[in-house]
Amino acid sequence: MPPDCKFVFVTGGVMSGIGKGVVTASLGKLFQFRGFKVSVVKIDPYLNVDPGTLNPIEHGECFITEEVWDFKPVIETDSKFESDEKSYRISEIDQDFGTYCRFLGIEMHPSHNITSGQIYLSTILRERRGKFLGRTVQIIPHCTNMIKERLLSIAKEEDLDVLLIECGGTVGDLESGIFLEAFRQLKLELPKRHTICVHVTLVLYSEAIGQQKSKPSQHSVKMLQSAGIQPDVLVCRSKKALAEDIRNKLSMFSSIPKEAVISNPDLESVYELPILFEQQKLGDLVCEMLDLKAKLVSFSKVNNYSEWLVMVNMFKIDKPVIRIGMPGKYFNISDSYISINDALTHAAAHQGYKAELKMINISEEIDIEEQLHDCDGILLTPGFGVRAVEGMIKCAQYAMENRVPFLGICFGAQLFYVSFCRKYLGLEGANSTEIDPDTPFPVVDMLEEQKNITEKGGTMRLGGQKIIIQKGTKLHAAYEKTEIMERFRHRYHINSNYMEDAEKKGLIVSSRDETGQIINSIELDREDHWMVGTQFHPEFKSRPYKPSKCYMAFIKACIENRYLLRKSTDI
Ligand code: GLN
Repeated sequence: MPPDCKFVFVTGGVMSGIGKGVVTASLGKLFQFRGFKVSVVKIDPYLNVDPGTLNPIEHGECFITEEVWDFKPVIETDSKFESDEKSYRISEIDQDFGTYCRFLGIEMHPSHNITSGQIYLSTILRERRGKFLGRTVQIIPHCTNMIKERLLSIAKEEDLDVLLIECGGTVGDLESGIFLEAFRQLKLELPKRHTICVHVTLVLYSEAIGQQKSKPSQHSVKMLQSAGIQPDVLVCRSKKALAEDIRNKLSMFSSIPKEAVISNPDLESVYELPILFEQQKLGDLVCEMLDLKAKLVSFSKVNNYSEWLVMVNMFKIDKPVIRIGMPGKYFNISDSYISINDALTHAAAHQGYKAELKMINISEEIDIEEQLHDCDGILLTPGFGVRAVEGMIKCAQYAMENRVPFLGICFGAQLFYVSFCRKYLGLEGANSTEIDPDTPFPVVDMLEEQKNITEKGGTMRLGGQKIIIQKGTKLHAAYEKTEIMERFRHRYHINSNYMEDAEKKGLIVSSRDETGQIINSIELDREDHWMVGTQFHPEFKSRPYKPSKCYMAFIKACIENRYLLRKSTDI
């Protein structure tokens, strides 16, 4: 018996990076507005088992889930090999999950991120275990069956009304072919009006002739059709609203009714997209296609249309600007720090400001003072490895000397501590052993539990962990609690060996883990200066309607500083 769940496949055309994730999340919102229980699966056709080993410059940030999944590539639940089978820990998943969570207000299990790596690894290991004895193991049906099983079991186990499945990449990519094939088969196997395909495409604008052009989109639809899938809805990404004649042309050439060719121009706030979709009646249209009758309308803040509208306006209205300097090293694409950018935007909007993020790509040539002098606050970013580290340490030093509000996240907190030890404890050459394994003062060192781990991929300290906050600290004032859960992704931590001296010089440990062994945050003991570093990543839990408490406190300090700064320099 198939689950009584409807499936929405989202594919992409022309090129990647056109905002398919936001479209998928917004589609999910349309179902939520009508009272349905939804979730999302993201398919990443690359061969990595999870995106944790990818370069953030190429792929954007990794989103971290609360739960860590023990992915067992061979085992099916009833297997007799269960106990001795190797498993892989997965909590680092595609950045699109951040978008889904922020829009939909739900948490998703890491098994919702399916990669080709997982599918091929499972197929080959199962073959070696003799699971397919006597048979030829092939992409169709062995890999495609596995993909279908994973989708169906999520829909069933989570008792969903609608499961949206976004396929990464672009139609026509060799590596996404098996996933499109699985979609095609599911469309065929499930009852009528149980599946639709929404194709997201780019409508280019030709400057030379001053017109939008539909041909690349037409070709991408043809490509999808040649994989055996007829799209039901076409979402057209473009700079400006879709011109009527282009809508007509795309409808005619793609065999899609005109009302299902949807305009998706650039927007001031991404959260506006569900509203734009509703204005084009897309919510009613997809429900009609899937034979879904709206349930009782939800009044919960997150899932109610009018509440969402109010929230969106908060992000759109013209507001005074708060400028945050973000020194870091992954800046080739705008998504490397997307959860941080969003957390800052949420916290600023909730306090009546618009966050202007000044990305500072740290290199040897850069003049740090010149870059930071007009910033109301500094957020020192997470990261790995040697490049740009000395510059980032100088940024923390600048904040300490000039009393600029400062939030250091993970690597940013570690480098804040390095900078403090060099300046106030006189430990010349102090460093993290990640950066300088021979440092005379390893003030940041590898976690004890990490010392015997050699394998990469899912092996860091990951996921949601309990944090015990010290009363009377800035962190405590921010959270108003002594116990919280936040998410982690690290191998190194602040070494407590130097802490006695550091505390004498004005540093405070404001939180630790449950055992008391791991320092989870530090701050300066100064009345008039908010300078905090967290080993954890509060940005992963910030939502547009419920900003992170830590980011709220940071932005509050920046707003106070803004008035001091603007008064003296009038900028
Ligand atoms: N590289 C550092 C560590 O592994 C910080 C990681 C991070 O910023 N997420 O501890």
